[in-house]
Amino acid sequence: SPETATDLSTEPLKVLQRVFGYDSFRGTQQEIIDHVVGGGDALVLMPTGGGKSLCYQIPALVRPGVGIVVSPLIALMQDQVDALGALGVRAGFLNSTQSYQQRRETEDAFLSGELDLLYLAPERLRLDSTLDLLARGEVGVFAIDEAHCVAQWGHDFRPDYLALSVLHERWPDVPRIALTATATPATRDEIANRLQLTEARHFVSDFDRPNIQYRIAPKTDARRQLLQLLQTEHLGESGIVYRLSRAEVERTAEFLTANGVTALPYHAGLDKEIRAAHQSRFLREDGLVMVATIAFGMGIDKPDVRFVAHLDLPKSIEGYYQETGRAGRDGLPSTAWMAYGLQDVVQQRKLIDNSEGDEAHRRTQSRHLDSMLALCETVQCRRARLLDYFGQPDAEPCGNCDTCLSPPESWDGTVAAQKLLSTVVRLQRERNQKFGAGQIIDILRGKKTQKVEQFRHDELSVFGVGSDLSDNEWRGVIRQLLAQSLLAVEGDYGTLVLTDTSSEVLRREDPRQVWLRTEPKKTPAAKAKA
Ligand code: ADP
Ligand code: ZN
Repeated sequence: SPETATDLSTEPLKVLQRVFGYDSFRGTQQEIIDHVVGGGDALVLMPTGGGKSLCYQIPALVRPGVGIVVSPLIALMQDQVDALGALGVRAGFLNSTQSYQQRRETEDAFLSGELDLLYLAPERLRLDSTLDLLARGEVGVFAIDEAHCVAQWGHDFRPDYLALSVLHERWPDVPRIALTATATPATRDEIANRLQLTEARHFVSDFDRPNIQYRIAPKTDARRQLLQLLQTEHLGESGIVYRLSRAEVERTAEFLTANGVTALPYHAGLDKEIRAAHQSRFLREDGLVMVATIAFGMGIDKPDVRFVAHLDLPKSIEGYYQETGRAGRDGLPSTAWMAYGLQDVVQQRKLIDNSEGDEAHRRTQSRHLDSMLALCETVQCRRARLLDYFGQPDAEPCGNCDTCLSPPESWDGTVAAQKLLSTVVRLQRERNQKFGAGQIIDILRGKKTQKVEQFRHDELSVFGVGSDLSDNEWRGVIRQLLAQSLLAVEGDYGTLVLTDTSSEVLRREDPRQVWLRTEPKKTPAAKAKA
């Protein structure tokens, strides 16, 4: 009847106000919720902090039956369920961390209709027992959180997600809502195909975070550069510093502490209690800097994070965007700052070469790294590049990122590239040798080091042909050639080798032009205790 129809369309707002205590919906929340409450499938692409949870929590409360939420974030389930409980929402979860008894209680609550929401780890749905359980109760809606995990070409593939297509087959009439913060157009298509969401309406939010200023600086001394940033722009403010390794997390936290910044480490190698204590201090206190691996941040909802700093290169733009997205959730100006250098490229390539998994997996990782490098080396607006990557191609230059504020100069690096590549060629052809960046630069600059003399590299015809550039400038050339795939690194020592396209630069007739960013002058380092 028309009356029920109005009830359905107004009910979500009442639930929002009564249960969650918010006045109004944000962005596309209302549209999404109405669509799902009405029984439609949805694919939701919304940046971190955009408010995805309500998009399935409210339909779960409004529709008859229980909302089943599939999430890979097992560590967060208890917190999510507790937070919902505090609002009077009846929620439970099933995952491998529970005892048999706890699971039984949750299953009973589900079957007797005492739950509004049930969170499940994806591997649960591979078990017939779980599917049978769901069949014996009443399901109102399926929510698939972090849906990009189903994409094999994505940055965070989880095989268990492939089994989720079973939901559509067994419950064709139950609406499904898949949500992610990190989907490019290709990933979006893959999600829709693999989850059989072909009929689903797509809700794509604006991915722009206008209050975040994106900056990527060449790495000279990462910790000192960071300290400089904190001292000049973010004194006494909360922020997150990401590092790749646990050891670097510890060292960086100690360094900041020694220099008067309250900083705590966070990584998976620390005791659970210590991690929990550091996390809760970060959430409660003002002006605390969390130095962390990417293990930190999932589900962290702190509005006044003023900066996110990456001292090592992230593995993908998806990861970078998600991590930087934790800054400035309150809408106030915030900084996403990153230091990046030649060593990062070498290290990431090495990680990929040594990674487990098949060739296809390594190729995927390489592709993600290449996109990340292209963002680092771009002379265009960083924000426009990011938005383009996430499927918004026509953004104007933002006027607020580093490349907009001080446009990098570029220079014709064709001759420099030729000198460098022919040094690599000569070492390999004439001597059957491969070397890393340091030795190649010494040869180019004509330095008679012990190692140069030992290998008689001063007898090479290319010895000293690159004395017009500094060490730092040569490192910049190498870094950018790596980013442009005109040069590659291999092995544990980061030796430089040619790629399929190197010859285009080296050919005599009409060589490929190479444009390079001018390396900025080194900024004066902050006063720091080592
Ligand atoms: P996401 O999952 O997209 O990262 P969340 O669902 O965790 O985002 O929401 C981020 C924050 O925004 C949470 O604190 C949430 O309570 C808040 N929020 C979401 N929707 C609204 C709304 N309509 N009004 C006010 N706050 C909201
Ligand atoms: Zn810009």
